[in-house]
Amino acid sequence: MKKLLFLVLLVSINTNSQTNYPKGYFSNPLNIELILNGNFGESRPSHFHSGIDFKTQFKEGLNVFSSAEGYVSRISIKHGGFGKALYVNHPNGYTTVYGHLKKFNKKIEDYIKRIQYDKKTYQIEHYLKKDVLKIEKNEKIANSGNTGSSFGPHLHYEIRLTKNQKALNPQLFGFEIKDTRKPTINSVFLYNLDSLNNISDPIKLKITKINDSVYQTEKVFANGSVGFGISGFDRQDLANNKNGIYKYSTYYNNKKIIDFNFESFYFEESIKIKTLIDYKYYIKNKSRIIKLFKDKGNDLSIYLNNKSGYINIENNPSVYKIIVSDLNGNKSIVKVPIKHSDFNKDLNSYDENGLANTLLTSNKYINNKLDYNFKFENAEIKIAKNTFLKDIQLNIESLKDSIKIINPEIAVFKNIKINFYNKDNRKGNYLALKNKDGNESFASANLNSKNYFYHKTKSLGTYFLKNDTIPPSIKLKNFKNNDWISNKNFIRLNIIDNETGIKNYKVKINSKWTLFEYEYKRNELFYEFDSYFLNQTKNLIEVFIEDLAGNKTQKNFTFFRN
Ligand SMILES: [Zn+2]
Repeated sequence: MKKLLFLVLLVSINTNSQTNYPKGYFSNPLNIELILNGNFGESRPSHFHSGIDFKTQFKEGLNVFSSAEGYVSRISIKHGGFGKALYVNHPNGYTTVYGHLKKFNKKIEDYIKRIQYDKKTYQIEHYLKKDVLKIEKNEKIANSGNTGSSFGPHLHYEIRLTKNQKALNPQLFGFEIKDTRKPTINSVFLYNLDSLNNISDPIKLKITKINDSVYQTEKVFANGSVGFGISGFDRQDLANNKNGIYKYSTYYNNKKIIDFNFESFYFEESIKIKTLIDYKYYIKNKSRIIKLFKDKGNDLSIYLNNKSGYINIENNPSVYKIIVSDLNGNKSIVKVPIKHSDFNKDLNSYDENGLANTLLTSNKYINNKLDYNFKFENAEIKIAKNTFLKDIQLNIESLKDSIKIINPEIAVFKNIKINFYNKDNRKGNYLALKNKDGNESFASANLNSKNYFYHKTKSLGTYFLKNDTIPPSIKLKNFKNNDWISNKNFIRLNIIDNETGIKNYKVKINSKWTLFEYEYKRNELFYEFDSYFLNQTKNLIEVFIEDLAGNKTQKNFTFFRN
């Protein structure tokens, strides 16, 4: 029985790299040449990029076409995230996703607007049954835009497996993207391991380019168990953006060690990006090292074999090799010559920009396998097991008016629960966070029945009470009060809250809820006159805004229109 299980396991591991994706089934969603602005699996601060970003000629409004026939399965409209996004299910078991859209086509726009007006909400997450909104292949479904957390016009495009929403690399589906350029390697790093398998700080190796595709590092003198890390990027032919590298393979004396690529991943595991990169190095240097070994808690599904990635230095001179490649098979190779010896004295631990020593006597040792509930006079902190994936030390300290939960070098994988007593109970009180750079931000204004602010967070720092009594401001942007605006298609308002930010807004025209969109990047609320507008020649706009600390503003304006 044991043998059989082992076989089954092997088979399932092998199939990982053998998936055949239909090539040519999905067509170009834009009718321009596809140029990447970002690729699949790229590292973002707390997740892998789940699609590819296509450039849209630096503008909004390009036609977006459905890559294949199917039906709209989900319409998502948010202030952040993908902004306006469309999900289309296809009969072959895949879903395509189109994000940061400016506008949907008329059929879809009419459909979702009715629901937005029914529910009196701009933000919406709406799932549709099969064939409610059928879509033809190459049907125009939307206009590209810059909505949500997008900082420049582009189309975010995804292909998912419909049944489990697993994100797949769209480039495996045969889109034509010109690419003859090899990945570029910036640096290679060595990690030493202690007896408890804790990794040292990275040691940067000197690197020389031997030819177009081969690099070599200085000789490494080492013994015992070591691992390596790499930083680099990949470019395609038609743009100079630095995108992510698709595939990483390593060999020790020509024996394959670790092997992984960005073919697919599950959204639930995306936060584990913090175990793939050297998180401490990232926090210090704002640049990423991809670890070529599995650090503690790394159970990502991107690996093509079950090796750990560490090597044991052999007695004879040996060579470690890293091969990185893109989806067109363009490769770069790094050779690391190794000699069994005591560690180089010359190799410098890359620790120049050391953080201030924040670990003090108030350190708490956190065993990763235990749940913790710290109780203080004014606060309570709950840390569940597996929050950090390994044992760590945290500076947890309750001061007169604040609570510190600090260790800037560690990644947090699960929410920590914080309760903080709302001492003076003033109007406008809220819980704020001060991070390691001294920046303050809003954390929570939610109070429980015992008058504690409660908050769930993966952000460490100093939490304290803050007070905001200044309400948000509202101004007309594209006309003046009492103006005639018969020739305008839009009403634009400027809304700003300086301290905590906008929580809610509501706009009525002639006493009727009206669909205003909030574009936080422009501090703008805007309305495009639609069929729901009932013109009374003299029209009244009532605007209500609330900030995150509960301060409210209401303003009325009048406009004339015929
Ligand atoms: Zn994107």
